[in-house]
Amino acid sequence: MQPLKIYNTLSREKELFTPLNAPHVGIYVCGPTVYNYVHLGNVRTFMTFDVLYRYLMHLGYKVRYVRNITDVGHLVGDGDEGEDKIGKMAKLEQLEPMEIVQRYTNDFHKVLEQFNFLPPSIEPSATGHIVEQIETTQTLINKGLAYESNGSVYFDIAKYNEQGGEYGKLSGRILDDLLTETRDLDGVGEKRSPLDFALWKKAAPEHIMRWNSPWGEGFPGWHLECTCMSTKYLGDSFDIHGGGMDLKFPHHECEIAQAKGANDREPVRYWMHSNMLTVNGQKMSKSLGNSFLPAELFAGSHPLLEQPYSPMTVRFFMLQSQYRSTLDFSNDALKAAQKGYKRLINGLRIIKNLEYVADDSIVIDEKQVAEIEKGIQGCYDGLNDDMNTAVTIAGLFNLVKKINQLYMGQVQTAQIGEATFNLLKEKFVLIIEGVLGIVEEQSTSVEAFAKGMLSLYKEYKEAKQYDKVDEIRGYFKANGLVIKDMKTRIDWAYEE
Ligand code: AMP
Ligand code: ZN
Repeated sequence: MQPLKIYNTLSREKELFTPLNAPHVGIYVCGPTVYNYVHLGNVRTFMTFDVLYRYLMHLGYKVRYVRNITDVGHLVGDGDEGEDKIGKMAKLEQLEPMEIVQRYTNDFHKVLEQFNFLPPSIEPSATGHIVEQIETTQTLINKGLAYESNGSVYFDIAKYNEQGGEYGKLSGRILDDLLTETRDLDGVGEKRSPLDFALWKKAAPEHIMRWNSPWGEGFPGWHLECTCMSTKYLGDSFDIHGGGMDLKFPHHECEIAQAKGANDREPVRYWMHSNMLTVNGQKMSKSLGNSFLPAELFAGSHPLLEQPYSPMTVRFFMLQSQYRSTLDFSNDALKAAQKGYKRLINGLRIIKNLEYVADDSIVIDEKQVAEIEKGIQGCYDGLNDDMNTAVTIAGLFNLVKKINQLYMGQVQTAQIGEATFNLLKEKFVLIIEGVLGIVEEQSTSVEAFAKGMLSLYKEYKEAKQYDKVDEIRGYFKANGLVIKDMKTRIDWAYEE
């Protein structure tokens, strides 16, 4: 089998994935800023890393997956000046900042569960790591890479570059261009250069979220939490750091500078960036007003939605394209995904229930065996080629064709032999459920199903076909339900 290759944003190449300390693998992914409900765009990025996490475990690695919760320091406008996103919401809703954090963290977890995401190994929060952030800021000051100015502390990019740092390397920015492009007057007068960024900010009197520090009362800069929490739980140098493309600059660029500055090591071996979910070619985002929430999607209650779509339809839709390509939302694409998802799940149901039938009179058909092996190989080739789930899904559909031939008896199970049959069953189920995280959704509600059965029950009763009537009663009982046959109506209830 081909080994796993990952596109590394830092080298701009697909590289062979070799963990620092196999079989252990460390992944850090930037989590949400919990001041609002997560939208479908956010879901795409987290899905990319959910599938990566699942696949690495499938390959046998022992993965520590750290995904943080940003609950302080992320300011409106993503810069160094202004209100904290959470603090602002707390004021608006007249709540404690931690109530805002809790509310949207709960929502985030609910959404992840709906989409069948695996929880990370550690979910640290920025406010839980203030001490570490103060320590790293102090280390950077001691090393001459940061300076205090009017109660705030800034990272000194010029000093960092003099000492061999390559600020701009990840995102491919050229410092001179950045300087001429920047109209950013954040903390002007306090900073030695407009490119310098805040490690610690002095809290204005009206700022609610504040902590004591050697530089007075303040709060950490947005980029610092990820450096502190990733290195605390994964080490000064770890395997994979992920996030959406829009975090490459300045967030991840600053993370590298802080970590390299503090620990004298390149912190991350593979930087992975997931591309954006777009709507009519525009990035889905809260500020552009073109975002919708998972709950709106499941209910079909947004003007952009022609109908409701289930979580697994969306999961299938997203995984049909590789994480590095943009993915445009459209009703047509989602409707097609709904069909595709159902075809896949039908294949899954069939293979799970299909039994091998031994028949000594049948010889093994090597061509059939080779086709199945090639189909399985195709699924892995996709995953190994920088997590190209689009190729994997195409491979799964090739296997669905085979599964249907076995189901219809066009190919006998004995023609492929027991070993190949078992391999097909094992891999097909594992790749769909275990790696892609796509599972069967029960589409029929008890209510709808019972209603149909009760109308049959009535018909049989009227025709006095009591054996059928009893049979239907038996179905209900087997499912923990009872038929309530009353004088004026027939209904069902849960068996008490
Ligand atoms: P935020 O809560 O804004 O910090 O975003 C959480 C994650 O979602 C980040 O990794 C972002 O890069 C990602 N993200 C935001 N908008 C989109 C989008 N339209 N498509 C894909 N990922 C997104
Ligand atoms: Zn981050």
